[in-house]
Order: sequence, then C-alpha cells, then structure tokens
Amino acid sequence: MPQRMNTLKFHRKKAASKRQAKEQLIGCFQKAREAFHQNPSVSHRLVKKARRLAMKHKFKIPAPYNRQYCRNCISFLMPGSNVSIRTRKGHVVYFCRECRHIRRYPYKPRR
Ligand SMILES: [Zn+2]
Repeated sequence: MPQRMNTLKFHRKKAASKRQAKEQLIGCFQKAREAFHQNPSVSHRLVKKARRLAMKHKFKIPAPYNRQYCRNCISFLMPGSNVSIRTRKGHVVYFCRECRHIRRYPYKPRR
C-alpha cells in the first residue's frame, strides 16, 4: 500500500520538525534573556517568534518558559525589571509592568 507508506513517512518528518521547533523555541528564550539588558524590544520580538513556532507546530510552550512572557502583551518578563512576582493566598502572582496585567498561578503550600 504505497498510500499508507506515504502518510507514515509524512508523520515521521513532521515529528522531526516539531523537535527542531522546540529546540528553536528554547534558543529563542535564551537569546531573549541575553538580549534583555541591552534591548528589551529584541526580547519581546523573540518571544513573539517563539509563540509563533509553538502555534505552527501545535505544541505547548515548555513549563520553565511558560511564565517568562506576558499573556496579555506578549512581552518577555525579566524578574526585577518589568515584572513583580509575589505570593498571595496560595497563588504566585505575576504583575506585568508593561501592560499592568496580572496573572496568578496556584501552588501547593508545604505542610
Ligand atoms: Zn503585559
């Protein structure tokens, strides 16, 4: 069945490009972090690029990078610079100083 073989080949190829895209995404966030001190707008652009990659290849942005950008204005968040991180009532509160957007992440308190 040549038809089936073709689809198998296609899927394998797709998985490989997805892996590449994930590596690229990690690279984007690393570059964004490095570029931030010199030019924050470069970092914001890199985050937008990373998001486009994730959307195109249909994967979630990995957990450590997920909180490094603002969901509202899609800018790179550097703690101590343009985001304030506080804990409050079982939540970690991220306050973006670029657009004043607040995002809360629940956490499990230690018992
Ligand atoms: Zn924002």
